[in-house]
Amino acid sequence: MKKVLIFSLAVSLIGCKAQQSRDIGDANPMEYANTITAGELKEHLYTFASDEFQGRDTGEPGQKMAAEYLKTEYKKLDIASPFGEDDYYQEIPGSYFTRGEIKDTENVLAYIKGSSNPEEVLVISSHYDHVGVDAEGNIFNGADDDGSGTVAILEIAEAFKKAQADGYTPKRSILFLNVTGEEKGLVGSKFYSENPVFPLANTVANLNIDMIGRIGEGMESAGDYVYLIGSDRLSTELHEISEEVNKKYMNLNLDYTFNEENDPNRFYYRSDHYHFAKHDIPIIFYFNGVHEDYHRPTDTPDKIEYDLLEKRAKLIFLTAWEIANRETRPFVDKPTLTEAAE
Ligand SMILES: [Zn+2]
Repeated sequence: MKKVLIFSLAVSLIGCKAQQSRDIGDANPMEYANTITAGELKEHLYTFASDEFQGRDTGEPGQKMAAEYLKTEYKKLDIASPFGEDDYYQEIPGSYFTRGEIKDTENVLAYIKGSSNPEEVLVISSHYDHVGVDAEGNIFNGADDDGSGTVAILEIAEAFKKAQADGYTPKRSILFLNVTGEEKGLVGSKFYSENPVFPLANTVANLNIDMIGRIGEGMESAGDYVYLIGSDRLSTELHEISEEVNKKYMNLNLDYTFNEENDPNRFYYRSDHYHFAKHDIPIIFYFNGVHEDYHRPTDTPDKIEYDLLEKRAKLIFLTAWEIANRETRPFVDKPTLTEAAE
């Protein structure tokens, strides 16, 4: 038995070595996108948005459970933390919050180091906190907001990791950023942008996911759609990448209604990507629009459209793949900061 074990260990070590650094250009990203499945998204979400997590209110025990869940999943996937060792948390003191009495909380970070341009980082983000429990004891499960984005990131991370196991490490680094405190005013992402683990100057783009598991109001006959917000605001190139990837692989109906500069909803300013965009880091915000269960106890996992969630998550993975692996980072041709002109 021992001999057999040693032998198979040796074989697997040789196997690993043979898989190191293959040419990323030879990979078929769709093969890895296909590891993102409705079944796995559903399995994660029925746990992550269960009553046990008590609405994941920032600083409360339910949020801590959610953080622990994410950390455990990243460790299972063998995806490291940028802090090294067992530390996946970026601590945020309760005193950092300006609204209400909030206890200490944490962003959860995981990371795949790039092969040829490791100093350049693509951030894929979503918030894992929600609004907790109301005075009557109703639990706000937040399955769509933003359980959907959170489980999508877990599946996207797994897809990148599987590619890496086959020898296809992305050229640029990828940071999976699960932020806390979004519902308290985008606080986790604000904290990250003020305490970036990787220099913002080297942060090439942010793909932010907040609510991608439902069909929004008025979109019942829109087919397989997703709202994209912000893709062309700073970088025409990022917008073109996003369009081309969709055309090549997924053919979703990309809806830009909420990207209009004068849209009264101002969604461009209302989720975590904004703390990257304000530093002239190009972003895309993926969103399904609001619906009748938005910020209500009825935002539950049984109402999620898992096949559509899968398609949207695949699109985000494939877009991330392209950004991480193309020759140059997306060019910022429409900077808003004067410093960006230097
Ligand atoms: Zn949200």
